[in-house]
Amino acid sequence: MTQDYIALLGTKGGPAIRPGSSMPTSNLVCLNGQQIVLDCGLGVTRGLVDQGMQLKDLSLIFISHLHSDHYLELGSLLHTAWTAGLKTPVDVYGPDGLDTYWAGFLAAMKADIDLRTEDEGRPDLKALVTFHVVDAGEVVTHAGITISALRTEHPPLIDCFAYSFKTDKTHVVFSGDTAPITALEDFAREADLLIHEAMLETALPALMARVGNGSDKLMAHWLRSHSFAHDAAKVAKNADVKRLALSHLIPSDDPTYGVQDWQSAVAPEWDGPLTVGHDGIKIDL
Ligand SMILES: [Zn+2]
Ligand SMILES: [Zn+2]
Repeated sequence: MTQDYIALLGTKGGPAIRPGSSMPTSNLVCLNGQQIVLDCGLGVTRGLVDQGMQLKDLSLIFISHLHSDHYLELGSLLHTAWTAGLKTPVDVYGPDGLDTYWAGFLAAMKADIDLRTEDEGRPDLKALVTFHVVDAGEVVTHAGITISALRTEHPPLIDCFAYSFKTDKTHVVFSGDTAPITALEDFAREADLLIHEAMLETALPALMARVGNGSDKLMAHWLRSHSFAHDAAKVAKNADVKRLALSHLIPSDDPTYGVQDWQSAVAPEWDGPLTVGHDGIKIDL
């Protein structure tokens, strides 16, 4: 059996990319020899290929919520996998509304899809993909991996999920986007790895000055819908997880702040193994 691991493909919070920034959220979860894609922010397709994945093997995708930094490239990933030889079914799990996105994507790309289906003899792309609406609780068991969802606190969205991937050997939890919630501590209890979103409190004023849009709405969104690094550390400590990885980093492109600043931010709450995410980092389980 191959080694279980998670690759963080895109580790920045938010959809915008700028010179020097990392890419929005996407992950490759490899458990029991299965390759599971977790969120499809911009760059997911390149990120998967860079990990050595054959896109024609795409079979299982989970989406945490309908903010573009988590699903903007879902359609492009499915389409590109199709052009790379995908002939087998793909199951996509996520919030209600993804099927509408997919119908719109197929409509937008109809000319190309019809052409390639006819001219290159490719299978019916629409028929290959099945969407499943996720609710809190156990979602599905696949190849010995039980996947569960927890509704997080990410207003104004209602359907935003953390996901747990559990096998008889390992347990990985992904926070999704969330304000700090104690429910996540039970959800991640004694997990081998907790991947949690994080903002660096000291860096927010400078970020606001750089990318703010003149109102205080963006800052208000950050504060009520996201977690600071020390919040993530507290969840990890209270949940007694074995390793904490920070991802969905805000900010991600300020050269004034580096790994050491993230380490210092979590230090008061967490002294266990810590991974500060960067695009392409592979965490063995
Ligand atoms: Zn996000
Ligand atoms: Zn979000």
